[in-house]
Amino acid sequence: MAIFREFAQLCEEIEKESGKKEKARLIGEFLRQLSPEEGRIASHLFLGSFPAGRRIFVSWNTLMDTLGEMFPLSPKDLQKIGKSAVDIGEMVEGIYKRWGRYKSRGITIREIYEKLASLAELEGKGAMRKRKTILKGLLVGMDSLEAKYLTKTIVGEMRIGVKEGMVLEGLAYAVGISIGEVRKGFLLYGDIGKTVENFLSKGRTALLSLSLKPFQPLQPMLAQMAYSVREAFEEIEGDLALEFKYDGARVQIHKEGDKVMIFSRHLNDLTSSFPEVVEEVKSNIKGDAILEGEVVAVKEGRFMPFQEILRRVTRKREITRMQREIPLKLFLFDCLYADGESLIERSYEERWERLREIKGGIALAERIVPEDVEKGEEFFRKALESGAEGVMAKALKGIYTPGSRGKLWLKVKKSATLDLLIIGAEWGYGRRHNWLSDYHLACWDREKRELLMVGKTFKGLTDEEFEEMTKRLLSLKVREEGKVVYVKPEVVVEVAFNDIQRSPRYKCGYALRLARILRIREDKRPEEADDLSAVEKIYHSQ
Ligand code: ATP
Repeated sequence: MAIFREFAQLCEEIEKESGKKEKARLIGEFLRQLSPEEGRIASHLFLGSFPAGRRIFVSWNTLMDTLGEMFPLSPKDLQKIGKSAVDIGEMVEGIYKRWGRYKSRGITIREIYEKLASLAELEGKGAMRKRKTILKGLLVGMDSLEAKYLTKTIVGEMRIGVKEGMVLEGLAYAVGISIGEVRKGFLLYGDIGKTVENFLSKGRTALLSLSLKPFQPLQPMLAQMAYSVREAFEEIEGDLALEFKYDGARVQIHKEGDKVMIFSRHLNDLTSSFPEVVEEVKSNIKGDAILEGEVVAVKEGRFMPFQEILRRVTRKREITRMQREIPLKLFLFDCLYADGESLIERSYEERWERLREIKGGIALAERIVPEDVEKGEEFFRKALESGAEGVMAKALKGIYTPGSRGKLWLKVKKSATLDLLIIGAEWGYGRRHNWLSDYHLACWDREKRELLMVGKTFKGLTDEEFEEMTKRLLSLKVREEGKVVYVKPEVVVEVAFNDIQRSPRYKCGYALRLARILRIREDKRPEEADDLSAVEKIYHSQ
């Protein structure tokens, strides 16, 4: 809880500091430690505009009368103190110092807010008496520094050289985003307190949420890996839901009036690839919405491999034939916007409820809110039996965090896999002598921005894929040493393995045992491959 005395001390520091940047940094450091609500209060305190938009009717006379009840003030004393004080705040400070009667009881900024709010509400008969009682109640529990800044706040003149712009600079520093974004948020929120409160609680999402509207796609929220349902229960705070993790293409569906657009995980326009999804959405969803789901290829009631859906995405012609060959099914799992309202700041629980209300006849992801780990594990087995890739565990209270891979969503797969980059390949033997078939696999060390080899494999691809891959890798060749062709790290592959061992063979100290390629991740960019921490995490979870 933020203590008013700390705030007063900070104001002293800010006042003495002449550099604007440093002043903003001090504000930022302070805001960073506050709850969003305290941030709102503090921002008004800094500006002496408190409580927001309301006036506190405390006149000079009321203040002096109150102090007169607390100290044996004589006109002579007042004159003497007044001589060296530059404003009323310093005057009050001088009075406190002259008699040294009161100590700080450590009042919080929230209590100050509540008391001042009640002062602002007083009117009519007896208001003056009550005002004095409240004021005295505050002042007797303060030392000279707190009394100085309480007075400054009440009269609305802080004189510490802080204007709105500087509070915004401090906020940008506290949240770690650009001042441009914060200013934009301020224009949209229209109030400094609200701006600070929203950015402190939601970070960049605060801004996104304000500007969210159909046809402006937003970066999808991503998941971290958990290695078992039990781990998901341990990692996620509070209750969670489990959903089937379908193995298809993620889609972000935007609808306004009669117009529908579909975006991929990388926000490419997929509208023309999935005409049946467009029709399904048009005929089922009544109002405007932004929805998320997974489109899966399904034939005769069975899920088809992920590669099939890719064919639907890459093929731009003969869509009707493709529709027949590779039928699709859409499973919705999130609702980010509905009828003019952004929902990304709402909890997943509320978003799901909204999704259920508006989905019409469209299927939702299969889901449960498991009572315990055992029920969760049962659901996980059911997911695998149905042909899903695993489950997604989602915190019921979690907001939607665009573009971030946090712990509000965790994915649990049948067995852990890594997305790795092919950095080199060896010419094969015998039947494979014309192919580059033994692939060198690497993960990132993001801090050092280097790639670290963690294993090799020649398993997992079909003959057709080996042939394709050979051509592709040769086009990426940077040099050849002996039987190894080194390539530009562009191809991401999802790799399964039996386990990870400690090994001096590779610089990173780990090696994958019995690695095999599950699929080529055409949908992943090189920078999206896993990093060493993912390898370490799996190693420790074994
Ligand atoms: P992966 O390689 O495991 O598919 P990714 O990096 O593409 O992962 P993650 O956020 O790590 O993306 O994992 C979640 C992915 O799982 C989503 O991008 C989405 O395509 C897919 N998915 C399938 N079913 C669901 C679901 N019910 N909820 C959320 N995502 C789902």
